[in-house]
Amino acid sequence: MKPTNSILGGYGTTIFTVMSAMAVEHEAINLGQGFPDTDGPEDILRAAAEASVNGPNQYPPMMGIPELRQAVAAHNKRFYGLDIDWRTETMVTSGATEALAACLFGLIEPGDEAVLIEPLYDSYLPILQRAGGVAKLVRIEPPDWELPRGALEAAFSDKTKLIMINSPMNPSSKVFSRDELAFIAGLLEKHDAYAICDEVYEHLIFDGLPHVPLMTLPGMRERCLRIGSAGKTFSLTGWKVGYVSGPPDLIGAAAKAHQFLTFTTPPNLQRAVAQGLNKETDYFTGLGAEMEGKRDRLAEGLERVGFDVMDAQGTYFITTDFRPLGFNGDDVAFCKHITTEAKVAAVPVSAFYQEADVDHFARFCFCKQDGILDEALERLAAHFGT
Ligand code: PMP
Ligand code: GLN
Repeated sequence: MKPTNSILGGYGTTIFTVMSAMAVEHEAINLGQGFPDTDGPEDILRAAAEASVNGPNQYPPMMGIPELRQAVAAHNKRFYGLDIDWRTETMVTSGATEALAACLFGLIEPGDEAVLIEPLYDSYLPILQRAGGVAKLVRIEPPDWELPRGALEAAFSDKTKLIMINSPMNPSSKVFSRDELAFIAGLLEKHDAYAICDEVYEHLIFDGLPHVPLMTLPGMRERCLRIGSAGKTFSLTGWKVGYVSGPPDLIGAAAKAHQFLTFTTPPNLQRAVAQGLNKETDYFTGLGAEMEGKRDRLAEGLERVGFDVMDAQGTYFITTDFRPLGFNGDDVAFCKHITTEAKVAAVPVSAFYQEADVDHFARFCFCKQDGILDEALERLAAHFGT
């Protein structure tokens, strides 16, 4: 038999699926894969139900229904002052995951280089490689997750087509500062490169930090594709509705891939998400405040258990150093151990690096009901005798 695709075949099953399956098998509380355990706003759920019943449920327009594209443009204006033409500068996708793939397939020519900052969200590297791109990896590391500007600069060359920026960043929970973004903007201009900006956690940002889209910096409006996700913004991760904003030529390039990847996204969900994006500003700030409370609850609890807890400036996640607990093994062994023995699942941070040398950190997800977080903490404390 002939071999199947070797690039994708070289990857195992994603760590999120692996840890969630292990959590189910061992009846563990799943603080591994990032998803809320309560669904998002009821009015959005009802809007989707009504849109299904009332129809139409046939193919919507390839670029998304006008009301959602208008809502995406208005959301850009309301939160970031960006003027986006919904007709030429927005595209609806089946989740941010499809948006990332469409942007990469639309921009990358075989042999192009792309700068990626580890720890990496799992789909970036396989899709880049499948598109024929060559990754130039730069890494940030716990505990400070500081951007190594020299290494970043050295990763750029005349062959650089683009950089992928994820802020707030999974799993580091780092929020890129305006100064860091300005440094990146300078490199993009110098090397005439683009940015794919994964901003799915744009409203999950804490401690009064602002979310600054790279696209808002001088000279960046024409170079960035900015990606959002209804899954994250409305706590509906199963819906897989994403949206991309960017200049017409880049959106056009991504659309060439989107038309062959999924072509469209369920119309009932699009209508409901349009309603969601038009919600009062209080909804969006309230979501961030609620998650900040959960971050604090889990961070304080994990510290009491004995973990060394890193700062989490955004997202759903906290990174912890488990060495103070005296565990003898790496992060994969630790996450398996707590899933099977303490009945709490987490994700090993080495899964987000190409080389497993960052091997003593575990990522815990805090977008869960308070009682569930408390129960998980009790289980960990009981297990470690702390
Ligand atoms: N990017 C990052 C950094 C993520 O954490 C996620 C969450 N799964 C995604 C993209 C994908 O989002 P979606 O579920 O909308 O495809
Ligand atoms: N973004 C989520 C996480 O990091 C999971 C997404 C997925 O399972 N593909 O846990």
